[in-house]
Amino acid sequence: MDNEEFRKHAHQLVDWMADYFEEVEDYPVKPDVHPGDILEQLAETAPEQGEAFDALFEDFKKIILPGMTHWQSPNFMGYFPANNSYPSVLAEMLTATLGAQCMSWLTSPAATELEERAMTWMRKLIALPDSFTGVIQSTASTSTLCALLMARERATGFAINNKGFTGDENLTVYCSSETHSSIEKDIKIAGIGRDNLRLIAVDEHYALKAGALETALRNDLQAGYQPAAVVATLGTTGSTAMDPLKEIGDICSKYDVSLHVDAAYAGTALLLPEMRWMSEGMVHADSFVFNPHKWMFTNFDCSAFFVQDENLLVRTFEIMPEYLKTPEDQRVKNYRDWGIPLGRRFRALKLWFVLRSFGREGLQQKVRHHISLAQDLKKRISNHRDFKILAPVPLNTICFRFQPPHISDEQKLNELNKQLLDQIQESGKLFLTHTKLDGKYTIRMVIGSTNVQERHVEKAWGLLQQAAMKLING
Ligand code: PLP
Repeated sequence: MDNEEFRKHAHQLVDWMADYFEEVEDYPVKPDVHPGDILEQLAETAPEQGEAFDALFEDFKKIILPGMTHWQSPNFMGYFPANNSYPSVLAEMLTATLGAQCMSWLTSPAATELEERAMTWMRKLIALPDSFTGVIQSTASTSTLCALLMARERATGFAINNKGFTGDENLTVYCSSETHSSIEKDIKIAGIGRDNLRLIAVDEHYALKAGALETALRNDLQAGYQPAAVVATLGTTGSTAMDPLKEIGDICSKYDVSLHVDAAYAGTALLLPEMRWMSEGMVHADSFVFNPHKWMFTNFDCSAFFVQDENLLVRTFEIMPEYLKTPEDQRVKNYRDWGIPLGRRFRALKLWFVLRSFGREGLQQKVRHHISLAQDLKKRISNHRDFKILAPVPLNTICFRFQPPHISDEQKLNELNKQLLDQIQESGKLFLTHTKLDGKYTIRMVIGSTNVQERHVEKAWGLLQQAAMKLING
């Protein structure tokens, strides 16, 4: 492909992209494919000779697109969103074109300095204490791994980094039983071991019980363990429960244990002054993560990771081989030392485009709109005789189940709700997911797609009621 062809195809793709955004809500949100269907259509070996772009694009439309789940559809209300927006997509086009690898200041000074500025903007927009410094990581899983590695090194005086485990460390980490699975994965990777992750009980709202945390810490200390970190969640994955940060922070200060706050999804709500009750006590946190790539209109991947002690972070990860030394090292930030990989994508550009294009007010307006749509629907679900809300709805995630009054058997209710969700998924008209709360099969509905409107919520609620009635009436 030469430059002229590139220009022609790029224009063609931009037209396709704009059409896609216009039409995405008409696509089946979940594809009607079975495992292996796509694989079967793909050549077993790479071509010997290069192919024309038209052939690639035709196959994209014919093979790939029908096998995609449409995360940007306003009918996508499952998991947590990974929403995007026009300015973010445009920035990704530029990022791909520049193709810069932003590991050091020298390898792209503007990328480093833009990241520093965008993260300072972000810190101010979500009203984190000034003492925090931010860096962009790929995912919340990676950000939390960084936090746990920092905590591990802090607790052992950098002994693990230097000598490795001797077997006498007895490090422990604490989080609630509702904490995201990435914490367990990170604990395994950090060498702390799953057996040393203490899952603390939750209250009736699925938030960590601070009293139980303190008891666990005390018991472990008495038994000779070394508590290294607590992970508090603002907005658990199951039901967006809020762990009591202030109480947890006080306990962490009292026992001198690192505190990491995982607000991967809910952190976006801190754009709203009325939601800042969630972050009361943040001064006690050593680190904090939230993902603009979930609910803040920024393409996956973009995870905003903030730390109180920049030196601890850099000391945990720093390496300095001869081939990476640059004349400016003493005067600049080299973000390769602020996380796990050496190579780094230019992620700050899309965040900067999003922040400038929406502005604080534009972001607040969208987030408020999503929350208000969810709060309205929550009221309607709670007023319906046959449905029941199963957890508080502090934001825009509604946990509920179909519970007709004549069915009280828990197993039957679980089966019924699983069938209901299966029917919804199969329809291709709406995408929802589930969790279990207190053993109850729970349907989750998250209203956070960039362009979701009242009519989409209306349609979703209509579909749910219809499918539920069909299930019991046959
Ligand atoms: N933490 C919480 C609370 C989450 O809900 C999720 C994902 O949904 C994660 C962490 C992991 O996010 P990521 O995919 O960015 O690693």
